[in-house]
Amino acid sequence: MKIFRTDLHIGLNKKLFEISSTSLGLDNVQFSEDTITVAIHSESVSHGYYLKGFMAVSTQNVCDRCLIDFDFKNKIKFSILLTNKTDLVNNDEHNVIFFTNQEESVDIGPVLAENISLNQPFKKLCFDDCKGLCSSCGCNKNKQNCSCKKST
Ligand SMILES: [Zn+2]
Ligand SMILES: [Zn+2]
Repeated sequence: MKIFRTDLHIGLNKKLFEISSTSLGLDNVQFSEDTITVAIHSESVSHGYYLKGFMAVSTQNVCDRCLIDFDFKNKIKFSILLTNKTDLVNNDEHNVIFFTNQEESVDIGPVLAENISLNQPFKKLCFDDCKGLCSSCGCNKNKQNCSCKKST
């Protein structure tokens, strides 16, 4: 996803972009929608630009406990610093992309992809209190009660 210097010069004011989810090349993430909406606000600083915003990302997951498919909607915030200073590096607050004064545009796709990847749920549950499957009969205990005895 390219951001142009001319736009940065004018300033992006919570501008909305739509990018194709497949263009991010994240093979390990199953997107439920073809497009991802990205909102970006830019800020000019002496050594470059800050891009702050968020992405609305829906992914398709399988519940760890009951194995049903469910949609996980996530609003992922990001903060990117575009700079021509080589001594600035990534930190907890923002991702840094080297952007020289000669470049007319910058591709922030890889950084957005990285942020999506890092924000995937570690534990995948269709909802927090999912009861899972019965270990004896295999029924989905969110949907029905079986008469199996609880095994300890
Ligand atoms: Zn579940
Ligand atoms: Zn059972």
